[in-house]
Amino acid sequence: MFFAASINCIDGRVQSPITEFIKNNGKVDYVDVITVPGCDKLLAERGDDFALDLIKRSVEISVAKHGSRCVYISGHDDCAANPADKETHLAQIRKAVRLISSWNPAVRVIGLWVEETWQVEEITELSDVS
Ligand SMILES: [Zn+2]
Repeated sequence: MFFAASINCIDGRVQSPITEFIKNNGKVDYVDVITVPGCDKLLAERGDDFALDLIKRSVEISVAKHGSRCVYISGHDDCAANPADKETHLAQIRKAVRLISSWNPAVRVIGLWVEETWQVEEITELSDVS
């Protein structure tokens, strides 16, 4: 049985699209989901130590206990907690990818964008990670 981890918004509209995308594209059976309102903004700006620590510990459990080798971080259109334009979201997601990668270099971190029709697209180039 294979697991991946997903850090995504609490928004009920994105849960199924993201989980299905990860199961299909990441070839995993289960997705450990870590929900935080506007997680792309929070991770990019590192504004809340408590929330960051909780996310980090959740990822560590998924990696250590479920053997997750991929962590997905996403942002989405019409986000109540992070009402930014798409360009801002994408920049935040890329920053978040770098931060999560720095926690555990052995894990692959992938950024996702959920657009207004709830289609999910992969946005992060690995070469973008510095
Ligand atoms: Zn949201």
